Amino acid sequence: MATLSSPCTMCDKPDSRQCARCHSTQYCSKNCQQADWASHKLLCRPLSEFLEKSKRPSKNHFSAILFPDDQEKPKLVWIHCPWIDEGEEWGYQLADPKPFLRADEDSSNIFQNPRLKRDLTNTT
Ligand SMILES: [Zn+2]
Ligand SMILES: [Zn+2]
Repeated sequence: MATLSSPCTMCDKPDSRQCARCHSTQYCSKNCQQADWASHKLLCRPLSEFLEKSKRPSKNHFSAILFPDDQEKPKLVWIHCPWIDEGEEWGYQLADPKPFLRADEDSSNIFQNPRLKRDLTNTT
């Protein structure tokens, strides 16, 4: 699958170009890249280092940011997102945070942000 046809992270325009450093975020134009840079710069370098060092376990794994409650720094992890089949034409992928939660903790609200933004429909 060609990555060239990925939609822009900011405005969903197709045929966007990847961030030259981390290759995991796409922008259609300099404007969009600059608009996102304030937040992307926090992620760009750690993400590029993470992707260099560790291989994606499968195509159902997505890079995610983990905020461990016993550490100061957020951590990048691969999270498994199995497809949930609804039996209709729409299935969806659900992040499985269990490996990152302590056994005695039921709540999943300390874990957020699988990078699935591009699946959202643009409703402008
Ligand atoms: Zn754009
Ligand atoms: Zn980047």
